[in-house]
Amino acid sequence: MQLSRRQLFKVSAGGLAATSSMATLGLFPTAALAEVRQYKLTRAKEVRNTCTYCSVGCGLLMYSLGDGAKNAKAEIMHIEGDPDHPVSRGSLCPKGAGLLDFIHSPNRLKYPEVREPGTNAWKRISWHEAIERIARHIKADRDANFVAKNANGVPVNRWLSTSMLTASASSNETGILTQKFMRALGIIATDAQARVCHGPTVAALAATFGRGAMTNSWVDIKNADFILVMGGNPAEAHPVGFKWAIEAKKKGARIIVVDPRFNRTAAVADEFMPIRAGSDIVFLGGVINWLIANDKIQWDYVKAFTNATFIVNEGFSFSEGLFSGYDEAKGRYDRSSWSYELDDKGLAKTDPTLSHPRCVWNLMKNHYARYTPDVVSDLTGTPKDGFLRVCAHLGETAVPTKVGTVLYALGWTQHTVGAQNIRTMAMIQLMLGNIGMPGGGVNALRGHSNIQGLSDLGLLSTSLPGYLTLPNEQAHPDFASYLAKNTPKALQPGQLNYWSNTPKFMVSLLKWFWGKNATAENNWGYDWLPKWDKMYDILQLMEMMYQGQMNGFIVQGFNPLTSLPDFNKTSAAFARLKYMVIIDPMTTETSSFWQNHGEANNVDPAKIQTEVFRLPSTCFAEEDGSIVNSCRWLQWHWKGAEPPGEAKPDQEILGELFVALRKLYQDEGGPGAETILNLSWPYRDPAAPSPEELAKEMNGRALSDITDPTGKVLFKKGEQLPGFAALRDDGSTMSACWIFSGCWTEAGNQMGRRDNTDVGLGNTPGWSWSWPANRRILYNRASSDAQGKPWDPKRVLISWTGDKWAGIDVPDFKADAAPDTGMNPFIMNPEGVGRLFAADKLVDGPFPEHYEPMESPLGTNPLHPKVVTSPAVRLFASDKERLGKHDEFPYVGTTYRLTEHFQFWTKNVRLNAIAQPEQFVEIGETLAAEKGIKAGDTVKVSSKRGFIKAKAVVTKRVKALKVNGKTVHQIGIPLHWGWETVAKKGYLSNALPPAVGDCNTQTPEYKAFLVNLEKA
Ligand code: SF4
Repeated sequence: MQLSRRQLFKVSAGGLAATSSMATLGLFPTAALAEVRQYKLTRAKEVRNTCTYCSVGCGLLMYSLGDGAKNAKAEIMHIEGDPDHPVSRGSLCPKGAGLLDFIHSPNRLKYPEVREPGTNAWKRISWHEAIERIARHIKADRDANFVAKNANGVPVNRWLSTSMLTASASSNETGILTQKFMRALGIIATDAQARVCHGPTVAALAATFGRGAMTNSWVDIKNADFILVMGGNPAEAHPVGFKWAIEAKKKGARIIVVDPRFNRTAAVADEFMPIRAGSDIVFLGGVINWLIANDKIQWDYVKAFTNATFIVNEGFSFSEGLFSGYDEAKGRYDRSSWSYELDDKGLAKTDPTLSHPRCVWNLMKNHYARYTPDVVSDLTGTPKDGFLRVCAHLGETAVPTKVGTVLYALGWTQHTVGAQNIRTMAMIQLMLGNIGMPGGGVNALRGHSNIQGLSDLGLLSTSLPGYLTLPNEQAHPDFASYLAKNTPKALQPGQLNYWSNTPKFMVSLLKWFWGKNATAENNWGYDWLPKWDKMYDILQLMEMMYQGQMNGFIVQGFNPLTSLPDFNKTSAAFARLKYMVIIDPMTTETSSFWQNHGEANNVDPAKIQTEVFRLPSTCFAEEDGSIVNSCRWLQWHWKGAEPPGEAKPDQEILGELFVALRKLYQDEGGPGAETILNLSWPYRDPAAPSPEELAKEMNGRALSDITDPTGKVLFKKGEQLPGFAALRDDGSTMSACWIFSGCWTEAGNQMGRRDNTDVGLGNTPGWSWSWPANRRILYNRASSDAQGKPWDPKRVLISWTGDKWAGIDVPDFKADAAPDTGMNPFIMNPEGVGRLFAADKLVDGPFPEHYEPMESPLGTNPLHPKVVTSPAVRLFASDKERLGKHDEFPYVGTTYRLTEHFQFWTKNVRLNAIAQPEQFVEIGETLAAEKGIKAGDTVKVSSKRGFIKAKAVVTKRVKALKVNGKTVHQIGIPLHWGWETVAKKGYLSNALPPAVGDCNTQTPEYKAFLVNLEKA
């Protein structure tokens, strides 16, 4: 039998389990011998998996020995890059290359343990005891604090005194089960790593384009003519994905990096521009002003596909740093004036001539007229000529045949104006006609391997899967009001307005939650879902814990003590809990917050009464499942070995816990018992739902025969649905996550597909499966002009063929809607166009405006000195007291990752610990000389909230900047240290930043805060 490697993969993905021993099957293809070094070890198994760290989602080949013969336990003994993976093509970065050491880390957890109140040691317990004791804690706390109805008698079914954090690298299947588990218990005090990272991305991109995700794909970066890297450092944080930027460069693209630090991306770029951390909107607002002033606009695109022509309500204004509607007492905006003027049919009025003074274009032009090149240089510290060169390069892409892209990550998100940083760039890309285009887009580089998937699954306080909102007690007291408020009407004639399908998505979701208990008579069990009163994000949760308002905390695959800002506050908050449950493959500082580690964690265990359970879970290599990379590909991975000791998959841990709780409520009853007892839990083994069962539920299936209007049966009862277009609002379908519908159809598991054929422009639609509907580039209708003709003959993605849209990607559009129907490309927006003016979508303004970081090195905002920082920021009194001033803390601290490490995980990995063994900070030469600090000295960096000690790296990479007439020094602070480590023990860098977040999403401001520096 002769098979090419690609054909073999198709066979194995479709039928033969990937864990099958290729040797024993006798299927070694001749082509493979030339492509991959073969492991000729008898009984070695080759298994395909995905890197667990960042969202590039590199493919892995894992080799294990031990196939059960003579009771041998399978153990991974080698990992290498998968040469067939279309993004990674066999590459792994230093993190991926050390994955074997992650799996075999001495810090893997093996047995359930408990640390009892006031004690100073872990005690091993059985799984049975652990589950029983945790279930008792949960029931006692829930029974005492469950709120069935609010003061107005609205069913709210929420439980606020125990909170839960969810993982960033667990599979979608674990994620969806966690969603079900939490909501049945009434948990809304929940958050995820997404909040710490890319929350502002979702807010900004959804507000502009309709969806909150990376628009293009890793490989597509190679199609760009110009690449701006700003607010990110992909050569370091996403090394393998960044190779596609280098591919573009090889073909002539120019790469410019704008960053506070000359980083490793800058080292391979064409140009580097320094910038003061926290001044990005000044820079980007300056770009908008320059593009308008120099007429570098793709006018046909802007007029047809953006809201430039829309007329804004008369009441809208901006003056002295404030938009209309500000309520100083509440610290919030009333956003009603940030809206379009509507005609008597409820449609938005437009002025195609762009002459109306209140059309979006003219308002935008006026707003950014203040951002002149001199102002930009003065407030950012970027040299004016450098800024102008960035403008010129971006401006060159305003023609249809040149395309630019932007790569960003947490350098933009982790600010009080995080969402608005991203919005500004999204507006620029619309003005240049770069959205929907191959080589264009706004590329949010997600950090964690499945942070995209877990956001998609709604593991956030106020979300449900598929970006549906969890009901709010005031806006949505009943199902009718929920549907009315979340089913928008089109604002222009003929728009697809895809959210008009909300009832189908929501009813199908409710059928998943409550199964046969969800009926038309009880509104599909709507009232059993918890309703929120306010958002319980991580900062809110920590504040409640700190104030003693929280008793329990369940932490799944998260290390909040290291990840949340103001570690000293977090630690004090944990000490006020009654119980904490940690589910993790590794030791974490969170689990051992009660241990004394000298200056790095100076606590007294005897005084801490929190009971802490530590439950060992499997890691990526020991489970089947799917994860979503940054460009929305759901990639299935296969188990290669058994976990160490008694570790179990998260699904089994949650399954056992749920079964134990259900039994307690069956036997004893209790408040809110019905939300637990009515939950659909139809798994073959209720204590261990399988990944396949859960993946099929995410896709959705027919619950009865589905017919067309003529009565013809389209899908039989029990069949997997082909996609979300098949969902119904009459209870005849179920789907746990409508945007994932299509991932596991009657044709099988689409996420396991392995055809890496490039159908053009690097697009590989046969590899895995991408949401939505396997589309690879979002808004791809905008790659053709209003008549359906591609803007650029070299970049043909889809075009109108006369009767349909077709091409090398799945149209992100109604496939048979002709160009003359007037339907526009941004199908998730009721206006059908991209938003230069974001109307009422963001809490801090429809146009981005520069506000200083909460801790500003200037102490003023020269644009409007009366409004220095964002007026829409949420700040708790306890955090306000902990803010520093520039006279006491004169330097700007900014945190970041290193290539060799991933967050706080790889300090448990020997190879990475060898590569970067010790904590350091980066200090510019001028500042070091001023302070008498030499390279290698130990220094103390302190903020109003705490301090760290680390080695000084004195470098030319961080230069002093002239800003508003004064010298600003910046200090670079890598993240990765702690006391649970195989590297040298270190301090938690998050002792330094303040607990204040992005106005829209509460993502903490890690990238710009004030510190002092001294020799230790
Ligand atoms: S960390 Fe990211 S770039 Fe590195 S191997 Fe893993 S997925 Fe690839």
